[in-house]
Amino acid sequence: MSTNVNVSVNHETPHEAPALQRITILGATGSIGSSTLDVVARHPERYRVHALSAATRHEALLELCLTHRPQVAVIASCEAAAWLSEALKGVESYQGTPIEVRHGEQALVDISEAPEVDSVMAAIVGAAGLLPTLAAVRAGKRVLLANKEALVCAGQLFMDAVKQHGATLLPIDSEHNAIFQCLPAQHRDGLAPIGVEKLLLTASGGPFRDDAEWPAERLATVTPDEACAHPNWSMGRKISVDSATLMNKGLELIEACWLFACGPDDIQVVVHPQSVIHSMAAYSDGSVLAQMGNPDMRTPIAYALAWPERIDAGVEPLDLFQVARLDFRAADETRFPCLRLAREAIAAGGTWPAVMNAANEVAVAAFLEGRLAFDRIPVVVQAVMQARPPLVVDGLEVILAEDAAARELAAAELALAGP
Ligand code: NAD
Ligand code: MG
Repeated sequence: MSTNVNVSVNHETPHEAPALQRITILGATGSIGSSTLDVVARHPERYRVHALSAATRHEALLELCLTHRPQVAVIASCEAAAWLSEALKGVESYQGTPIEVRHGEQALVDISEAPEVDSVMAAIVGAAGLLPTLAAVRAGKRVLLANKEALVCAGQLFMDAVKQHGATLLPIDSEHNAIFQCLPAQHRDGLAPIGVEKLLLTASGGPFRDDAEWPAERLATVTPDEACAHPNWSMGRKISVDSATLMNKGLELIEACWLFACGPDDIQVVVHPQSVIHSMAAYSDGSVLAQMGNPDMRTPIAYALAWPERIDAGVEPLDLFQVARLDFRAADETRFPCLRLAREAIAAGGTWPAVMNAANEVAVAAFLEGRLAFDRIPVVVQAVMQARPPLVVDGLEVILAEDAAARELAAAELALAGP
């Protein structure tokens, strides 16, 4: 039997080495930050860490600096920076220079827009990540967006800046990364021209998805550790609580509207407890494309780091025989009103998503500190939204002002809502 192999290999052209990418990691000590560093460390021929940032965990940041040898390390407080600077005396960056230690918000902006940086991993949690992430966009970087709150707060402004400054925006959130992979390359001007009928945004449903085990009354008794014990993903505490209230899916609904230029009615939330399908795109010819994989954030991180190429992420291959079955059901917006609040916020638009996000951040922090009952989180968010109707966004100032006002109102609501 003769075999025709229709592939030509040119043995004379050596394989071109990938260009070295220099990366800033905002939020390096967090869950996404450490997964990013894990992927980066697997490919030293491709990636170098330019800068690492952390809010408070200076010892953890020191460890990361000793391993990854960035040129700059940024920490929030002046005291922590002094400690870190002392601890890093004599330690050289990958370029053989002393590691520069800085602190404060301007330093975060500077490491995001530095000319020697190619890519910025935006993995600070909350609206605190907005300014440095926007700085990376305005500097035309490749922005790996984990910090969904930035896009929720300033969606229009953010996407306008992406276009204006020629930034490359790659979603890290597993659902949005999945949809990105299921859409053709030319998707940025909306779904209709490319024949997409709907985006199917999957949700694990969180630890309290089973209504027989967790009826509405029992949600009042939830502890922070119960809320953070996510069935499928290991994540920071804020996003874990958001997953438990379904606010995470609400934030993701808004995030998807901006990333894929569509409205909330173009998106269907599908609870899929196994978290094996990370989201889908349904086309007008009846095709539904899904992206699947084990629930491990290193997959979307590696995808965005290497895009449009693919690299090893250290993730176990998906074993479908072990998965065995995939289940789907509708989200319960009665027990979890946060998803409905997010839908209302994006439908009304303007500053409402920023107000909702700020109120949620305050309520979640209070819950994690034992000052607010779990089922009171949506009550606080809704009260703040009602007290702060949406304003037209004509610049960043109004967003920052509404964010601050919503935080104040939420703090006042906490006293009323009580634990
Ligand atoms: P995390 O709490 O584990 O880490 C947050 C990081 O941000 C830490 O390095 C912390 O030091 C830093 N940080 C916190 N507050 C800060 C502030 N005020 N100023 C500067 N830095 C600050 O959070 P995470 O789970 O890694 O999530 C990070 C972001 O990625 C969030 O927006 C989250 O919604 C998003 N995200 C996370 C996952 C996940 O699997 N963890 C998945 C999708 C999206
Ligand atoms: Mg997600």
